[in-house]
Amino acid sequence: MQIAMVASEVTPFSKEGGLADVLGSLPAALSELGETVWVISPLYRGVRERADRMGSPLQRVPDGRFTVPIGDADVPATAWRSTLPGGGVEVFFLENDHYYDREGYYTNRSDYSDYQDNSERFVFLSRGALEMCKAVGLRPDVLHCHDWPTGLAPIYVKYIYEAEFPGTATVFTIHNIAYQGIFWHWDMNLAGLPWSLFNWKMLEYYGNRSFLKAGVVGADVLPTVSKKYGEEIQTEEQGCGMDGVLTERSEDLYGIVNGIDTDVWNPATDPLIPANFSADDLSGKALCKRALQEQYGLRQEPNVPLLGMICRLVDQKGLDLCRQALPQLLKNDLQFIALGRGEARYQTFLGRMQAEHPRSFGLRLAYDEDAAHLIEAGSDMFLMPNRFEPCGLNQLYSLKYGTVPVVRATGGLADTVVDYAAGGSGTQEANGFSFDEYTPAALMNAVVRALALYKDRNAWRQLMLTGMRQDWSWKRSAREYLDVYRKAREKAARRLAGGLEGAVA
Ligand code: ADP
Repeated sequence: MQIAMVASEVTPFSKEGGLADVLGSLPAALSELGETVWVISPLYRGVRERADRMGSPLQRVPDGRFTVPIGDADVPATAWRSTLPGGGVEVFFLENDHYYDREGYYTNRSDYSDYQDNSERFVFLSRGALEMCKAVGLRPDVLHCHDWPTGLAPIYVKYIYEAEFPGTATVFTIHNIAYQGIFWHWDMNLAGLPWSLFNWKMLEYYGNRSFLKAGVVGADVLPTVSKKYGEEIQTEEQGCGMDGVLTERSEDLYGIVNGIDTDVWNPATDPLIPANFSADDLSGKALCKRALQEQYGLRQEPNVPLLGMICRLVDQKGLDLCRQALPQLLKNDLQFIALGRGEARYQTFLGRMQAEHPRSFGLRLAYDEDAAHLIEAGSDMFLMPNRFEPCGLNQLYSLKYGTVPVVRATGGLADTVVDYAAGGSGTQEANGFSFDEYTPAALMNAVVRALALYKDRNAWRQLMLTGMRQDWSWKRSAREYLDVYRKAREKAARRLAGGLEGAVA
């Protein structure tokens, strides 16, 4: 299969959030399974420099000059190429300095306001990706688009480029429904799309035009980053206004949990922790716990359960629940370490907890990847009481490090953590603890259940080992994506056959 991925970020060339990491890993995993994968992304300021530093400098594609129709103009573009680390995946960069040679990707660096011309910049990406394919000679079987900046591409394939890309299947992954790319309706002209598509069933969104909605109505299939998140975004509470259109497409929604980078997150080889360990030899984990307690000034108590938490300190991550539950929880015989930065009110609250419990509460208000590795390795449990979480990574790192997750059953957390009681204690499936209701009482109840089981060393060990032996690699995700691509191709083939029949008739 030949797969072209289009995205507005790709690690290690450009990164603002988790989306970039997916683009840095999934293509390589697909390529290792024997598929041909290309990535298409903007040539932002800084990309060239990063490519040089990586030893994979950009090269201009011979004859790689082309134009992209934007409104009445033919806007010039140039194709550059490099490869992802490992060399198996080619990345094609779309160059236009007017659009992309800026400090930020989406926002002004001075005040973090959106660029005024974001609609035009990402029309250029969505349409430019197809012009790039034509210019460079790529004929993808599957065009896999990610999040709103690429949402128009599936529509282009169906309505403007159907002759050039007949039978190309389109896939649109929703990583976060909250970002929708909504712009005023006159941009239909800029996008060069027929006004007949500007209706409530298609691109119109309450009088405006939405890139995300275009992807949702246009793509053949719609993977999102967990099954549960796929269900949640079809509800009024969590659909951010897109629940109606997503419900219409529920048959084509699939949940595929992201993988983790096991070169970076593997307790058996992790160079950032004082002792390595694995499911076959857990002894190093006790040393990590000791080092962690020492670093944060906690009492050296090997048998007191230690709970870790690492996240942005924002509502999404359940910080308001923590604020209500932690003072009570800390009355138990446990230790707690939090790492994160974010809203001032939560930083203040955690600071107060530390001041009140200096020997059992550790805190680091920073973004610190080294500290994150030690906390994952040295903690016994990991707390994620999130309000919502499309996929989540930390519960997967925790499972891998034998650090039993205690999570709220939302989105990717619900898909990956099987509660000890609900999943069947005594079975081999349980790997953590979870709670449904977003209340301090439910959170406390889950932690108290975990603390009780912690005393049963054998049962606890079994819980740890189940998580550690599970496969959360990108290879697993890539296999699931391949299934979804096959479904998309079947749909595209039917569409093509239908179109041909129509033409014959
Ligand atoms: P989100 O993208 O919503 O922040 P994810 O769980 O998908 O949540 O990914 C967050 C990533 O950022 C994880 O790898 C987590 O370990 C990391 N992270 C978050 N806060 C910190 C921090 N303060 N220090 C180090 N790593 C952090």
